[in-house]
Amino acid sequence: MANIVAIVGRPNVGKSTLFNRLTQTKDAITDDQAGVTRDRHYGLAEWLNKTFTLIDTGGYVVGSEDIFETAIRRQVSIAVEEASVVLFMVDAMEGLHPLDREFANILRRSKKPVIVVANKTETFERNQQAYEFAALGLGEVFAISAETGSGTGDLLDEVIKHFKEDDEPNPYEGLPRFAILGRPNVGKSSLLNALVGEERSIVTDIAGTTRDSIDTHYNLYGKEFILTDTAGLRKKTKVRDSIEFYSVMRSLRTLEVCDVCIMLIDATQGLESQDVNILRLAEKSKKGMVLVVNKWDLIEKDHKTAKHYEDAIRKKLSPMDYLPIVFASVKEKKRIFKVVEKACEVYENRKKRIPTSQLNDVMLTAIESYPPPMIKGKYVKIKYVTQLPTHTPAFAFFCNLPQYVQESYQRYLENQLRKNFDFEGVPLQLVFRKK
Ligand code: GDP
Ligand code: GDP
Repeated sequence: MANIVAIVGRPNVGKSTLFNRLTQTKDAITDDQAGVTRDRHYGLAEWLNKTFTLIDTGGYVVGSEDIFETAIRRQVSIAVEEASVVLFMVDAMEGLHPLDREFANILRRSKKPVIVVANKTETFERNQQAYEFAALGLGEVFAISAETGSGTGDLLDEVIKHFKEDDEPNPYEGLPRFAILGRPNVGKSSLLNALVGEERSIVTDIAGTTRDSIDTHYNLYGKEFILTDTAGLRKKTKVRDSIEFYSVMRSLRTLEVCDVCIMLIDATQGLESQDVNILRLAEKSKKGMVLVVNKWDLIEKDHKTAKHYEDAIRKKLSPMDYLPIVFASVKEKKRIFKVVEKACEVYENRKKRIPTSQLNDVMLTAIESYPPPMIKGKYVKIKYVTQLPTHTPAFAFFCNLPQYVQESYQRYLENQLRKNFDFEGVPLQLVFRKK
């Protein structure tokens, strides 16, 4: 079950400030690299080991004065439709505003839990004033400062109380779960249909009740797997002009329920920033990934085309350089098997456990031949490596000065792991601990 928290409220109350604080800018899927969008309105946050997706709905709705009413309705309808919890933000510095009442009127009618968050309460007076928002009739008011972070702990304690636990038994425990992602028109349904068309490939169809998805059990080309699909369940949206928002939301949901995502792009369009954003989010969620360049039949090619195409994609994906790329044509049924096969390989890579002795043999040798450089007059000495007992590959390096291991050296270690053990398509986590 995807836990989604939406922030609503009129402009300038501090929605994006809170968003940035909770999703932590250092983990942001935006960055300064060319081609990656700067304005980001959704991201992952974590509190007490519970992760959730946070959405700043304000970013999706630009209202000018005269269309405020509509803008409010849109924001709220996005939030109420998609979120498990709605944070309704108001500004304690300005006090109760007529637009706050409009938001409250609409929110009161929704069935979702709504939490009133009075922001900018750094001073004692404003903190006291925050309680005037109780007049909105939406229950307890949480006074916070998005800027300093005060009060956000109590707020998050309240937020996670509303999360539903996913206690539905999984009838397919142990089988790989794949999901197909991609922008409209890249060929997702064609791929699904091609797989369905393979005789007797489908074993069963099960609609998950709390998982928001339909699982289809395949036994195809000697591979057994589950394709999980959220598309069929998407209601026709009333909010016509938020298509990008909905396609992003769908991707987020889909990501949540899969082990490996199969990201399709259209060869004639190339890799776009939205695709890169979703892949970065997949990386952050530690999902396996396969990138499929579909409609390869439409590209005029010689023997170098695929290589050049691949180089261009890898440049855009940098530093995420471990994704397998498959050039396919669903229309001509070319390399569809390869896609399934790759996804299965990535699934296996994601489950892989390297024995400690083998890991140390390889990694300590690599470290010896290129030791960490001296930092501030000190040498980092890595003594021991072990894979952690986590669901996805994570490695702990025990050393004398964990805080001094530079990012460039971490990349070296990651590259060595990848070079020596096949982790194609899988994000790796490296942690440094004091020995
Ligand atoms: P949004 O339009 O709701 O996303 O609001 P922003 O996050 O862009 O914030 C609007 C303004 O309020 C900015 O100038 C922020 O610096 C300021 N602001 C946000 N949070 C706080 C806070 O906790 N305290 C104070 N004093 N100002 C804040
Ligand atoms: P979706 O929106 O991602 O589900 O995309 P569709 O599966 O509906 O495909 C969009 C269009 O692309 C349709 O007209 C398909 O026939 C076409 N299409 C899909 N795969 C291929 C392919 O490999 N080659 C070509 N030339 N067209 C394709």
